[in-house]
Amino acid sequence: MTEITRREFLKLGAAGTAGMALVPLANPLGFDLAAAKKRTLELRISGAKEVHSICPYCAVGCALIAYTSEVAGKTQLLQIEGDPDSPVNEGRLCPKGATAMQLATSSRRVGKPQYRAAGSTTWEDKSWDFMLDKIAQNIKASRDNTFVAQDANGNVVNRTEGVAFAGGAAFSSEEGYFATKVMRTLGVVHIEQQARV
Ligand code: SF4
Repeated sequence: MTEITRREFLKLGAAGTAGMALVPLANPLGFDLAAAKKRTLELRISGAKEVHSICPYCAVGCALIAYTSEVAGKTQLLQIEGDPDSPVNEGRLCPKGATAMQLATSSRRVGKPQYRAAGSTTWEDKSWDFMLDKIAQNIKASRDNTFVAQDANGNVVNRTEGVAFAGGAAFSSEEGYFATKVMRTLGVVHIEQQARV
């Protein structure tokens, strides 16, 4: 058997690669250059309507452009991306904002209130009326059970120590103001806001 040195092996490999690269140029069989020249790229958002919006996730307030089109009388969301004209984000979005489209299109999005009863291992679809009543009943029970009218020194405090409230980053100023007023009315002292800044 013929011996081949390492150097000869590398030379052969390089020659073979060059030969393969030259074949399509010398023999463009199966490659229709004329058809390729005629082909124009159709963008997915061609002809779409641009709607300007703000990312709902945090207080940074990055601007978005949503591209939509009408299909069979229904508005279809095609794409969401950062707005390059915004002085806030100049077209950029963080990973969370960049997936904002999934808020509308994800098949894993839960579309109805889900309730899991105490001790149960399964979630049930419930109406908003049921859920709001349940939340109100639980808040009242917790407040009644943990309400402190006076502290250890006899000071009147009228506070609810068994309930905490965390506002979301998507709150507007008005929603935050309203939520704080409602919680203070209940005597809640543990109030926090997730601003994500
Ligand atoms: S930083 Fe991210 S989450 Fe916050 S507004 Fe901008 S894109 Fe949305």
